Amino acid sequence: MRIAVDLDGVLAETMEAWCKRANEFLGTSLRLADLDTWASWRKLGISREQFFQFLDEAWDDWESIPPTEPRLAERVRNLSRSGRIDIVTGRSKESVKAAKSWLAEHKIPYERFVRVPGWKDKISLNYDVYIDDAPELMPLISRNPMMWGILYSRPWNRTVPELRHVFRVKSWTEIPRLLEQIQQ
Ligand SMILES: [Mg+2]
Repeated sequence: MRIAVDLDGVLAETMEAWCKRANEFLGTSLRLADLDTWASWRKLGISREQFFQFLDEAWDDWESIPPTEPRLAERVRNLSRSGRIDIVTGRSKESVKAAKSWLAEHKIPYERFVRVPGWKDKISLNYDVYIDDAPELMPLISRNPMMWGILYSRPWNRTVPELRHVFRVKSWTEIPRLLEQIQQ
């Protein structure tokens, strides 16, 4: 199986650093749990561009970005017997180097680092399984009988309903068992 693993919000806890940036800039006191919608920029009254600029800036200081879970490298490695892991991300060109440094620092195993211009482009790469936190990606996966989605549960994807071929997980430790189920 070919497995596409997202970076922001699934491996790297980028939004913590995002909140710090945004709070400095906007004078707010946002926390991760406040980012409860995908298009949080609307709710916060900032532009989409500003939202993604904060995200890019967060990656400038990649060393301060924590992983989403403890012992993440080991938990990701447990997937490798089910298939090939690629990192598939919508990161900007400018932040690719930082993202790769972060992955190396945290010893996350993967074969290829694939950058896509937008989240919709992930689908055209035809992976068998997508591990992602983007709510909008899941309905597209669900529509394709050849694909499976594993939705990594986050405050901003709480409203995603149950979908065919999509599993919701709270932790990486739940994923190996699901992949075995998918393979059968
Ligand atoms: Mg993400």
